[in-house]
Amino acid sequence: MRALVYHGPGQISWDTVADPAIEEPTDAVVRVDATTLCGTDLHIRRGELPEVKPGTVLSHEAVGEVAEVGREVHSTTVGDQVIVSSISACGRCQFCRDSMFGQCHGGGGWILGNLINGTQAEFVRVPFADYSTRRRPGTLALEDAVLLAEVLPTAYEVGVRNGHVGPGDTVVVVGAGPVGLAAVMTARGSTRHAGSSLWTCPTPGSKPPPGWVPTPPNCPDG
Ligand SMILES: [Zn+2]
Ligand SMILES: [Zn+2]
Repeated sequence: MRALVYHGPGQISWDTVADPAIEEPTDAVVRVDATTLCGTDLHIRRGELPEVKPGTVLSHEAVGEVAEVGREVHSTTVGDQVIVSSISACGRCQFCRDSMFGQCHGGGGWILGNLINGTQAEFVRVPFADYSTRRRPGTLALEDAVLLAEVLPTAYEVGVRNGHVGPGDTVVVVGAGPVGLAAVMTARGSTRHAGSSLWTCPTPGSKPPPGWVPTPPNCPDG
C-alpha cells in the first residue's frame, strides 16, 4: 500500500510499504477513506517528538471501512463504516474506566502515528478496535465524520468543557483554525449567548464569516 512515512527531521515521503495485518486478536484493519493532518504531525516532521521513530506512518485521525477484524473484536465487523479515534483505549485499565483514554495504561493512549503506524495510508491497523472505533452513521459525510476523530472532541473537551463554558457566557476564541472553529461551534451548544470570535486572517485578502470580529480589522490584500 501507499503511505506517508516519517524518515527523520524534515524528511517525509509517500512510499510503498507493507499492508498492515491483524497482530492482536483485539485489532481491526481499516481501509482509510479520509484522513487529516494535525499540528502534532508538523511537530513530528520537525523532529520535536523523538519517540516517533523513522519509518513510522504519520497521523492519527481517519474514517474508513473495516477490512479485517481479530477474533476478539465484537463491536464492529468487516464492512462497517467507522470513525477511528486519534486516541486508542484498552477499555480495561483504571484510566479507561474513568474515561481518561489518553492516559490509558493498558497499551492505548496516543499511539497511532506515534508509537505505531498511523492513518496517512491506504490501510491502518487499529488496536483495541472495540474501544477505538465508532460506527459512522450513513448520513454523516466522510469530510464531516473525520472531524470527530480528534478536531471536534479536542475543541469541546479542552476548550469548552475544561474552560467551564456555561449558559450566558461570552466566549472569545483566539485562532480560527479547525480546532478554533470547532470550539466556537461547541461553545454555541453550551451557551445561549454564543460569543463572537476573534478572526485572524488565515490568508491574505480573506473575509471573516458573518458575526466574526476580524483582527486586524482588514486582512492585508494578497
Ligand atoms: Zn492530533
Ligand atoms: Zn486503558
